[in-house]
Amino acid sequence: MDTAAYIGLGANLGDARASLKAALAELAASPGIAACQASHLYRSAPVDAQGPDFINAVARLHTCLPPLPLLDLLQDIERRHGRTRPYRNAPRTLDLDLLLYGDRDMAHERLVLPHPRMHERAFVLMPLAELAPALSLHGRPLALWLAECGEQRIERLPD
Ligand code: ADP
Ligand code: MG
Repeated sequence: MDTAAYIGLGANLGDARASLKAALAELAASPGIAACQASHLYRSAPVDAQGPDFINAVARLHTCLPPLPLLDLLQDIERRHGRTRPYRNAPRTLDLDLLLYGDRDMAHERLVLPHPRMHERAFVLMPLAELAPALSLHGRPLALWLAECGEQRIERLPD
């Protein structure tokens, strides 16, 4: 369980809160995953996407899975929650993105690390900053990236 990884969770179809909570529990209980911690839940306006507001969160975990098997696990959990991909940026019952895998840089056809759009999305940066306030992305602190997302509507949900 030697690598720390961060997962971005989002949903805007069905009971999005329940889907995120179930996905977090499934992730934490999966083989090869330990010490799974979740941020609060957030509500955000869709960015480059359609449909109702999203519910979002970020999880930090430790894993002994290599990056692609970890992505396979995330996609298995998405499928169990009825995720389909009818078109790009379609509304979704559950989206699990691998944001960071240690300090690994990767450009595989199935997996780009760090996640290529995470630094411009408040719905990733805000929950991530809860778990890792001192983190930098592409050489800049999270807070500076977040300051550039001021137009994106987002609120933390009560416990
Ligand atoms: P998005 O999350 O960008 O809205 P999808 O969840 O449909 O879109 O993912 C599209 C593809 O992105 C997946 O098939 C996956 O292989 C690829 N992908 C590339 N990098 C990543 C990453 N860091 N995390 C999750 N998926 C990724
Ligand atoms: Mg995704």
